[in-house]
Amino acid sequence: MRIVICGGGVIGASIAYFLSRRGVKPIVVERAGIACAASGKSGGFLARHWCDGTPLQQLARHSFDLHAELAEHGSEAWGYRRVTTYGGVGAATAHTRGGTTPNPIDWVSSHLEVGQQLGSTRDTAQVHPALFTAATMRAAEAHGAELRLGTVTGMRQTAGRVTGVEVDGAVIDADAVIIAMGPWSILAAAWLPLPMIYGVKGHSLVFTTGDTIPPEALFLEFEEAGGAVQSPEFFPRPDGTIYVCAISSDSPLPIDPAAVVPDLGAIERLERICAAASPVLAAAKIVARQACFRPIARDGLPLIGRVPGVEGAYIATGHSVWGILNAPATGEALAELILDGAARTIDLAPFDPGRLRPLDPARLRSRRAASAPLKGS
Ligand SMILES: Cc1cc2nc3c(=O)[nH]c(=O)nc-3n(C[C@H](O)[C@H](O)[C@H](O)COP(=O)(O)OP(=O)(O)OC[C@H]3O[C@@H](n4cnc5c(N)ncnc54)[C@H](O)[C@@H]3O)c2cc1C
Repeated sequence: MRIVICGGGVIGASIAYFLSRRGVKPIVVERAGIACAASGKSGGFLARHWCDGTPLQQLARHSFDLHAELAEHGSEAWGYRRVTTYGGVGAATAHTRGGTTPNPIDWVSSHLEVGQQLGSTRDTAQVHPALFTAATMRAAEAHGAELRLGTVTGMRQTAGRVTGVEVDGAVIDADAVIIAMGPWSILAAAWLPLPMIYGVKGHSLVFTTGDTIPPEALFLEFEEAGGAVQSPEFFPRPDGTIYVCAISSDSPLPIDPAAVVPDLGAIERLERICAAASPVLAAAKIVARQACFRPIARDGLPLIGRVPGVEGAYIATGHSVWGILNAPATGEALAELILDGAARTIDLAPFDPGRLRPLDPARLRSRRAASAPLKGS
């Protein structure tokens, strides 16, 4: 069976990995480089129970367990480790802390209130997302998958079924095609009946801190000097860096993933938040100032499954803030769906792409012809 996966983010790489483990040799077509977008610039935080009580529960729990298995048996290291996770509050204008209990973590400013333990090493963990995605793709290649750099520009269909993918104007023959282009999956709505997919922008910094920060993740509610409240997330990594993200925006998604840049002023705001939140960060060197878009569908749930009405067409996107966590279970379930006709490990019904009204492909094509920008939510 000839399978083409469009997009080399964490979702595309995970699908390639699980397909290749089943003896199929999929081709992954990636426009700008493996993990060049959100899959390389996200936090990489994993939580087993934080989706409990939602339609994501089964996917998240199973994927958390798969992450542990993959890290144990993988031939490479990608920064997987268990972490203790805390919640806290703070403000740019330092208030005197009311309580007498000392903060449980010592790398934050003394005026922050860090009290609530949100997760333990039993149920929260992390990976370095770029390393994880690249290692997953390499493991897929070791099992026969192929990575091709190129831009997916269209799809060939004959009598209601997919027969190929157009890449930079040439066609790669295919019996099955999976759209896994993150927020750029919306481009495929010009060729397939797909619902709206948005891109929500987030900003992040990576600091070099040496080994000063232990495996303690921190979720903060932080009031900036102007009164705006941000929710920065801090993830110290085993490679001696710490990743911090915050400040979402609805800036338009550029068609070229390599053209994503931070919003004006957002990085400076994030730097001020970090300096106020932690004296360690105030003194640390910043090695990356970046932005990326997370993909999200209208109802906030991922789209994983068959594209209705077009045989051989599949989609896996819209994982929003949990794409790194949920990638392995998504890859495994989609491989089962394509090769066995149904997913066995996960019930994909809540993620059926057919649950949402599709856009009109003809309208989208004329909009693109008029060069309208892609808009985030
Ligand atoms: C700031 C931030 C922090 C986050 N933190 C976490 C976290 O801690 N834990 C967690 O689980 N999740 C987190 N996420 C979410 C997670 O990063 C995403 O859900 C996930 O990376 C999406 O992966 P993807 O493969 O669907 O998309 P992407 O990573 O966007 O990959 C899509 C790929 O498709 C390629 N592409 C685009 N157009 C084309 C084309 N025409 N032809 C070929 N290829 C194309 C792109 O170049 C890109 O490589 C975070 C997201 C953000 C924004």
